[in-house]
Amino acid sequence: MTRTDVDTDVPADAEAHVCSYCGRPFAREKYLVLHRGLAHPDDVSDGERDAYERAYAEEQADIDRFRIVALGVLVVIYFGFLFAYAVFAA
Ligand SMILES: [Zn+2]
Repeated sequence: MTRTDVDTDVPADAEAHVCSYCGRPFAREKYLVLHRGLAHPDDVSDGERDAYERAYAEEQADIDRFRIVALGVLVVIYFGFLFAYAVFAA
């Protein structure tokens, strides 16, 4: 079983974006675009490859943004506990 060979169960009334290469359904168009680029890199057309590269860059920007926000939250929690300790434990 490969990373993309997974069992799926799509409700009959749900909209699905189906991969034309392997038939795997996706809930969102963006997921299908990313899947095509990752699972079928040698088969995709130039347009599909461009769409994949755009979606990949957007995904990477979202991940970078999340890392910065997560680091900020950790810093606030750390100094929050540090100051709480300095004030209440003294
Ligand atoms: Zn596929």
